[in-house]
Amino acid sequence: MPRVLIVGSGLTGSLCACLLRRELQSGVHVVVWDKARGAGGRMCTTRSPDSSSHSADLGAQYITVTPAYALSHHSFYSELLSSGILQPLRGLMEGARQNHGDTNYVTPLGMSSVVKYFLSQSGADLFFEHHVTALFRRGASWEVQKKVGDSETFDAVILTMPVPQILQLQGDLVPLLSVQQKQNLERVVYSSRFAVALFYSPDVAFGFPWAARYVTHNSCIRYITVESRRRNTADSGRGPSLVVHTSVQFGLEHLDRDKEDIQPVILQELYRLLPDLPQPMSIKCHKWRYSQVLTSVPDSPGHMTILEKPLLVCGGDAFSHSNFDGCVESALSMLSVLKDQL
Ligand SMILES: Cc1cc2nc3c(=O)[nH]c(=O)nc-3n(C[C@H](O)[C@H](O)[C@H](O)COP(=O)(O)OP(=O)(O)OC[C@H]3O[C@@H](n4cnc5c(N)ncnc54)[C@H](O)[C@@H]3O)c2cc1C
Repeated sequence: MPRVLIVGSGLTGSLCACLLRRELQSGVHVVVWDKARGAGGRMCTTRSPDSSSHSADLGAQYITVTPAYALSHHSFYSELLSSGILQPLRGLMEGARQNHGDTNYVTPLGMSSVVKYFLSQSGADLFFEHHVTALFRRGASWEVQKKVGDSETFDAVILTMPVPQILQLQGDLVPLLSVQQKQNLERVVYSSRFAVALFYSPDVAFGFPWAARYVTHNSCIRYITVESRRRNTADSGRGPSLVVHTSVQFGLEHLDRDKEDIQPVILQELYRLLPDLPQPMSIKCHKWRYSQVLTSVPDSPGHMTILEKPLLVCGGDAFSHSNFDGCVESALSMLSVLKDQL
């Protein structure tokens, strides 16, 4: 039975693992490695640093579907809606821009629940803290090295991390790229942002009415959300949580600063915007060096095949577009390559 390694347990990798299992059933052994301590990637749901049961979505916030994708990806949406993973957005979104006909969905259990749902359906062997550092071609297989522990061999490898992280891999990958492929990968551009989550005690209630607010004319903060209101859930015993995203411009200007240095700058601006905000119990700050794709691989092919035998394929939102439907497109296009090759 062929052994396939999927690198990355974000939405693209998880969907790919799930679709592979559904298409090829037990004809393939799927293994997923991620360098992080949990699944989700840029759709992560983080826990508060204190031991309370707070959680917050530091990355993706909503799933917005256009009428065209609502039709073509109908099966994915109906599955997630019927299993309760997705719900229509109900909270007030102050200052949000909405295209006519689009529908917004939220995740009561946090964005990572979407990724975990597909992983749970995949039957894949899942390993965290497995940071891939190099790939070597060994006859009909790939030897995959990781930061810690022995290397392993696989019949096919699928890479779903952001493109700059693919290009950093040592070994035979970069030398195998054609000039055109290398140029196309090097042209991919991501925005960068900082995200801060603030976790409050149960006695705190916010006086403002919105679930999320898009802040305009502010060089630092672009977006603030109350987690439970956005996700359509009750705080039930826990206190509320706020998530703040900085503007892309701010992220770019401070990209090389440590998040510890930037956190007080963001908090100062937050308290200027919301002066009545009480002090939180705990705070978590994250720097998204690779946030959303601004320039994707030309013509959005969904994937790039680097070698057919042994198979090495790259995918992810950089090969389509940076949202749920972009990841579905990429996973579907990688699935068709895998079905042909395996
Ligand atoms: C702040 C922010 C807000 C966003 N808002 C939205 C939104 O509202 N709606 C929406 O639809 N989308 C949104 N997005 C975009 C969306 O999150 C992404 O398009 C999607 O999550 C990309 O999934 P992916 O699986 O392609 O990549 P990723 O989620 O980046 O997954 C890649 C995985 O690879 C792992 N990895 C990387 N390098 C290695 C390595 N060397 N070895 C092992 N593992 C490795 C990473 O840990 C990660 O888990 C947002 C993103 C961010 C950051």
